[in-house]
Amino acid sequence: MTQKIRTRIAPSPTGFLHLGTARTALYSWAYAKHHGGQFVLRIEDTDVARSTQDAVDQILASMAWLGLDYDEGPVYQMQRLDRYQAVVAQMLEAGTAYHCYCTPEELEATREAQRARGEKTLYDRRWRPEPGKVLPPVPEGVPPVVRFCNPVEGDVTWDDLVKGEITINNREIDDLIIVRPDGVPTYNFAVVVDDWDMAITHVFRGDEHINNTPWQINIFRALGAPLPAFGHLPVILGDDGQKLSKRRGAVSVTAYEENGYLPEAMLNYLARLGWSHGDDELFTREQMVGWFDGSHLSKSPAQWDAAKLAWVNGQYIKAKADDELAPLVAAQLQKRGIVADARLTAICALFKDRCETTVALANWAAAFYTDVTPSDADRAQHVTDAVRPALATLADKLATVSAWDKASIAAAIKEVLAAHGMKMPALAMPVRVLVMGTPQTPSLDAVLAIFSKEKVIERLKG
Ligand code: GLU
Repeated sequence: MTQKIRTRIAPSPTGFLHLGTARTALYSWAYAKHHGGQFVLRIEDTDVARSTQDAVDQILASMAWLGLDYDEGPVYQMQRLDRYQAVVAQMLEAGTAYHCYCTPEELEATREAQRARGEKTLYDRRWRPEPGKVLPPVPEGVPPVVRFCNPVEGDVTWDDLVKGEITINNREIDDLIIVRPDGVPTYNFAVVVDDWDMAITHVFRGDEHINNTPWQINIFRALGAPLPAFGHLPVILGDDGQKLSKRRGAVSVTAYEENGYLPEAMLNYLARLGWSHGDDELFTREQMVGWFDGSHLSKSPAQWDAAKLAWVNGQYIKAKADDELAPLVAAQLQKRGIVADARLTAICALFKDRCETTVALANWAAAFYTDVTPSDADRAQHVTDAVRPALATLADKLATVSAWDKASIAAAIKEVLAAHGMKMPALAMPVRVLVMGTPQTPSLDAVLAIFSKEKVIERLKG
């Protein structure tokens, strides 16, 4: 029987869902789907001081927005404390973990001495039981931590799904703390118990965790648990070549939702940040699932490219049905206190080709629902005294058209051009400036047809 593929994403709820975590979630999700497996969401909330419900809510909302559906979860680590305690008890019993009563001062003194000798600062295994060793007397009233008996010798080697073979010598790492004095497990321990209990077969995560993996592998082995495969994804760099961070622009999924990006475009763009399928730049999530077999993952850092993301989003906006775009634009307008109406679908149809985000579409749509204020420069350039008589004739003509549609409006404009001996741009530009607030708009008759006749005439007189 072949093994059921199970992947997971395990965000810590100390803030919004970071773009890097969203990418890891996407890869984990796609890998599981590709293999007909399952994807689990686990909330790693053992950092009690920094974890918040608000962050949990944001993470869940971002996962839902991206459409990264999970087969199990959310599982909360803080609801599994009994399980971790049971495993620790077994380890203490088996001698693969032990209590350590060192004070922070003692630990610092050890490190200080190691630094002075030019050595790596590692725990000196003072409290580790060893044959023939006499342990210090247990101090009164000091709640101990639990440390893992890391192997002292030998290498830890794994064949990383992204980076290839990685080897770290056990002399480089020490007996890490697996349970804090308050009984809460640390990340490296809880993550192993969880990945074991949840039968995770493939762990994708950021490469900042590479140094944790040898500990985790050693703990898996100490527990007699099957090892998952590990794939460490390179960091995402910002436009400036530095690690993508808050200071360098929007890094939360939520910010992109707010700024008018489509989830399908975000997924498409995130997929390409560190993975490729030939030269394909635009693909559906179904195609990605079909292709995502764990190969073609990049070993080197990906570069965030805001312009490319905007381009990808623009392609998705163009391709999206107008009646599906309209509610998204309506939501953007609502944030500005603008209540849209049924015309919004036609507005989307007319303007979407020139927009990269739903925010940009909302900017155009706003001209139909609120007053516009053309710039002085546009007025001075286009709405000249010379053109005013023609504008007045156009207002009169439009007032009398029998049907308010593109064809009748086009016919009225033609008549005015003939009557005043003018060329189209000389009339169209001032009309655009007065009605839309800007001289660059799509075809004038199409734009005017979306307004009410009264509104157009009112603005032409402005
Ligand atoms: N909570 C860890 C993080 O957010 C998860 C790392 C892992 O996937 O093991 O970085």
